[in-house]
Amino acid sequence: MNHIADNLAQVHQRISAAAQRCGRDPKEVTLLAVSKTKPASDIEQAILAGQRAFGENYVQEGVDKIRYFQEASQRDLVWHFIGPLQSNKSRLVAEHFDWCHTVDRLKIATRLSEQRPAEMAPLNVLIQINISDETSKSGIGLSELDALAAQVAPLPGLVLRGLMAIPAPESDYQRQLAVARQMAGALQQLQARYPSADTLSLGMTDDMDAAIAAGSTMVRIGTAIFGARNYAAR
Ligand SMILES: *Cc1c(COP(=O)(O)O)cnc(C)c1O
Repeated sequence: MNHIADNLAQVHQRISAAAQRCGRDPKEVTLLAVSKTKPASDIEQAILAGQRAFGENYVQEGVDKIRYFQEASQRDLVWHFIGPLQSNKSRLVAEHFDWCHTVDRLKIATRLSEQRPAEMAPLNVLIQINISDETSKSGIGLSELDALAAQVAPLPGLVLRGLMAIPAPESDYQRQLAVARQMAGALQQLQARYPSADTLSLGMTDDMDAAIAAGSTMVRIGTAIFGARNYAAR
């Protein structure tokens, strides 16, 4: 096995163990392989090992990779945009990605909906919640969720699929769990009103066990699959 296939197998084991510890079916947890800064050859290795869902943070880099694999006739991949989104880049996301995890204002949601090509399925969107890091500009507070969800849900080019968060780094498991449970509770309330909102995108390499214990349905894992990133080489 190459190292990426090996790493993927280990991450799947970690997901299974975390799910089984709390009585969940591991199949409820989708593994998103975060491939930002990594070359297409690394993604190819992951595809050979069975991975199909990939997360990208930078619009142009993600679009280049999506086009590369479309030209290679690898059409069964699912591409998730997980980075901060400026309105002037929304069209590229609407025209190429399957999911956008970082909707945090109506203006972006409206643009994504209008720019989604009619021949494509509606774009799956998650509302990003700023659950712990008040200084970061991305995401809304939980108190603003009801109002934004009511505006996003009816947009014809989008499907409201749930919530995403990037909690502040925290090494204590119990504190990770407390934050993850707040997110899981918010998703439950949202799904009661919008049945399509079935997804909680929560958990990275360092906090995925607590996220899964709380109810995450999608973990976003980069380093544990592809190794450390080298931003200088981008
Ligand atoms: C980079 C990134 C990840 C992956 O982080 P790792 O620590 O490498 O697993 C997950 N989610 C988001 C939003 C990211 O930007």
